[in-house]
Amino acid sequence: MKSFHAVRSAYTLVCITLTAVFLLGVTWLQAHADDRANGAGNSATAKAASDAAASAEGQSDDEEYSQPYQPKSKTQLRRELTSIQYRVTQNEETEPAFRNAFWNNKREGVYRCVVCDLPLFESGTKYKSGTGWPSFWAPKNPKAVATRTDYVLFYPRTEVHCSRCGAHLGHVFDDGPADKTGKRYCMNSASLSFNTTEEEEVLAAKRAAEKKSDDAIKSKPTDAASKD
Ligand SMILES: [Zn+2]
Repeated sequence: MKSFHAVRSAYTLVCITLTAVFLLGVTWLQAHADDRANGAGNSATAKAASDAAASAEGQSDDEEYSQPYQPKSKTQLRRELTSIQYRVTQNEETEPAFRNAFWNNKREGVYRCVVCDLPLFESGTKYKSGTGWPSFWAPKNPKAVATRTDYVLFYPRTEVHCSRCGAHLGHVFDDGPADKTGKRYCMNSASLSFNTTEEEEVLAAKRAAEKKSDDAIKSKPTDAASKD
């Protein structure tokens, strides 16, 4: 009788173990299926967001995002950038939360790449995320930033960099405002420079004047003379 009990106990133990292993396996499979589904959903959302941004922006400033760019040397970057700006943009370090220039900046204007001056984000899409880093729900133009997956923290995150010079900017997450794009572009202030709307207007006027004088130089001297 004793041996019967022993066999039955062993059999019960084996059954419990097998059931536990089976349940763990099912849970694991479900978790990964959810990840894949989320991934597909996220990229669809990202595309919808970037399409929306594209149609909102129009094609007016697309030209700015297709200008040729001469990459700067490490020496030049070290000369032009502060230590934290260099470490964040070139080595993908992260600045401290709340101890950075723009996390609480509420002024209206444009955030540009600190390395190459490309316009990246606008105050209109900046929102209070509570993270201590400047957060936006969309870039200024879908062509302004590019992304790739990184595993710095052992789990995949979507790294965001300047589409023109490749400067590291931060990461994008899927916990942004649900009534907007659902995206949170969590940026480092050290990767950005900021111009108020007025400063941007002055810059735009200066550029237009420069373009006009360039065009005048390029046109025939007789044409230029006949205008006066
Ligand atoms: Zn850049």
